[in-house]
Amino acid sequence: MDFNLSEQQQQIVDAVQRVCAPFDADYWLRRDREGGFPDDFHQAMAQAGWLGIAMPEAYGGAGLGITEAALMMHTISATGAGLSGASAVHMNIFGLHPAVVFGSDAQRQRWLPPLIAGRDKACFGVTEPNTGLNTLRLKTRAVRQGDHYRVSGQKVWISTAQVANKILLLARTTPVEEARGTEGLSLFYTDLDRSTVEVREIEKMGRKAVDSNQVFIDGLRIPVEDRIGEEGKGFSYILHGLNPERILIAAEAIGLGRAALARGAQYAKERVVFDRPIGQNQGIQHPLAKSWMELEAAHLMVHKAASLYDAHQPCGAEANAAKYLGAEACFHACENAILTHGGMGYAKEYHVERYMREAWIPRLAPVSPQLILCFIAEKVLGLPKSY
Ligand SMILES: Cc1cc2nc3c(=O)[nH]c(=O)nc-3n(C[C@H](O)[C@H](O)[C@H](O)COP(=O)(O)OP(=O)(O)OC[C@H]3O[C@@H](n4cnc5c(N)ncnc54)[C@H](O)[C@@H]3O)c2cc1C
Repeated sequence: MDFNLSEQQQQIVDAVQRVCAPFDADYWLRRDREGGFPDDFHQAMAQAGWLGIAMPEAYGGAGLGITEAALMMHTISATGAGLSGASAVHMNIFGLHPAVVFGSDAQRQRWLPPLIAGRDKACFGVTEPNTGLNTLRLKTRAVRQGDHYRVSGQKVWISTAQVANKILLLARTTPVEEARGTEGLSLFYTDLDRSTVEVREIEKMGRKAVDSNQVFIDGLRIPVEDRIGEEGKGFSYILHGLNPERILIAAEAIGLGRAALARGAQYAKERVVFDRPIGQNQGIQHPLAKSWMELEAAHLMVHKAASLYDAHQPCGAEANAAKYLGAEACFHACENAILTHGGMGYAKEYHVERYMREAWIPRLAPVSPQLILCFIAEKVLGLPKSY
């Protein structure tokens, strides 16, 4: 067991910090106020070659593992870019993982290089308004018509659909009553054709720079060659990418929590009340110290889950635990940072209120804390399935 970063991993952290440096707290505050996708940040990451960190070298990626990808996403978030910065590139990092694993060589050749170069932007279309976390009940329908499918239905909360030109889409190819087990859904990676897809932004609490949307699909034509793997197996392909997704989100949450904690600790040193720094009071110190421990512990779980994944070992429990612990630790750190700032914690210029609004995202998505607890109870503790 080695808890130290390797030389290469430390270089990744240093290099990503350098790319993020020009995008300072004021930049992200402005993006939070005004909205608008952080194209300049996305392009800076692409130009420095980071969008392909976990993509195969044969297609222009760096061929590194989820351990390095998680380090990178943690670093982005911890610079204060938070979820706004992380979500601007997140989908590129592991979102296309099902295509990497189950796509044909021709598909990978067609899809990966433009994504890595930052020319393509992809969104991830799974969640639907009427099925929630019960993904096997998805209703969006893809009907085969010769050499293509026609797709109609509705998706919700689809992030970056305002700016994406591509969509990874999970849709039903077999009616639910005829589908066996986890089969019946198919996975596509295709052009987001706005003549048949309407995208309406959802006004939301935080991360204004990275849009989330209702998506109405009415007759989208998808060529058969844009289907990943076999028809009907889409759910199992998506499952393959869920653990890395949870690990990355956990790392992003921990980075955000650390950014909040750093601001809290700094303010506690500087702010003088009753003739001494507020940080001299244990009532201020202890919550911050507790947050440090919670973030450290959650990060260890991220490392464990990531190293299991990279070693091709089962990591479902650890990936879910990392996402749960990381999100909770982040949330508490943001809360403690606001409390440390007193009234100024509520002022935008101190940044921590923005962090708190963003901290809700890894708590709620891509899977809720309740469902993670249900999963651990069932799969680890052997209790009856409850959902
Ligand atoms: C900012 C943001 C960005 C997102 N981006 C994307 C995206 O890009 N692509 C995408 O596809 N989706 C995206 N999502 C959607 C996200 O993954 C879902 O919101 C999340 O999976 C929860 O689904 P739901 O909202 O339908 O909750 P529901 O399924 O409606 O659940 C509501 C609540 O009930 C609880 N619940 C339900 N059943 C049970 C049970 N049996 N036991 C205990 N509790 C239960 C849930 O835990 C939850 O707390 C995003 C969401 C947000 C907020």
